[in-house]
Amino acid sequence: MPECRICQSEESNQHVRAPHVFGGEGTHQFWECDDCSAIYLDPIPSMEDEKRFYAQEFEKFMSTRVGDHRDWSSAEIHKVTNQDQVKRRMPFLQDYLHKGTDLLEIGCSSGFMLDAFKAFGVNCVGVEPSGEFSEFLEQSGHSAVGDLSEITNQKFDVITHFFVFEHIRDPYQFLKDQYALLKDGGVIICEIPCANDPLTSMFDIEAFEKFYWSIAHHYYYTPQSLSHVLDELGYTYKLAPEQRYDLSNHMTWMLDGKSGGQGRFTESLGNEVLETYRNRLIDSWQCDTIFLCFSKDVTGVPLLGQDQPCLLVHPLPLS
Ligand SMILES: [Zn+2]
Repeated sequence: MPECRICQSEESNQHVRAPHVFGGEGTHQFWECDDCSAIYLDPIPSMEDEKRFYAQEFEKFMSTRVGDHRDWSSAEIHKVTNQDQVKRRMPFLQDYLHKGTDLLEIGCSSGFMLDAFKAFGVNCVGVEPSGEFSEFLEQSGHSAVGDLSEITNQKFDVITHFFVFEHIRDPYQFLKDQYALLKDGGVIICEIPCANDPLTSMFDIEAFEKFYWSIAHHYYYTPQSLSHVLDELGYTYKLAPEQRYDLSNHMTWMLDGKSGGQGRFTESLGNEVLETYRNRLIDSWQCDTIFLCFSKDVTGVPLLGQDQPCLLVHPLPLS
């Protein structure tokens, strides 16, 4: 039994949240801390294993996980099949994108977000450890490095990352490193899976439990555990709830025990039912995604746009 990887609370305050880890070995489990709500992988993979995984195996690993339209088989196809993500994320980002804005995206994969940022006249730099994606980024005319530590004498107005934070071994150091790369008044915006996802926290679906908890993730965050990390660092931040997967996807998990099915029942159920379901998950924070935004200007730069709905400033109302 481990002690908490976030708050170091003792072993007796930890319980198993997920006994099965996709891509893991029998010994791997996700544990949850009763004190800070952190959900974390144990035992911790070695640095060597992790480095090899991202340099050589990550795309292949991801392609075994996709059950919907997203495609990791090649960088070009990856880019095309992620255009819906661009559309979904833009409302959270567009207020910060101007001609001449210096932007850094950590974990930019095939560069599909960088393409969209460039259309605003933004100067983009990407960080991408994967060999295949790095070559593709270069061919696409993007400026990219393999590791955050390679960026030494440049600062940014906007730093973004999407579904990267949960992969990070030391969340405190990761956030401090990027905070140091922000210009005054700069902003960090990131998208993180939310472990309040109803597929695991409300419904008990065996197939989903075997799929969701991934060896590629060190942590699964909730608004509570994320707040714990950010409060410790003393940052000013906002969290916004977001729901990526629709009712059809949830029904497909229940009916067929597999991923996919996004949009499958839209025509039969109608948009109103789907929207009501989505909004309910968002309003109650029983959602699958968190947008985190924090700024270097503690005097109060507007975060995540004034018009973003369902925005919560810390401290969060805890359910
Ligand atoms: Zn803890």
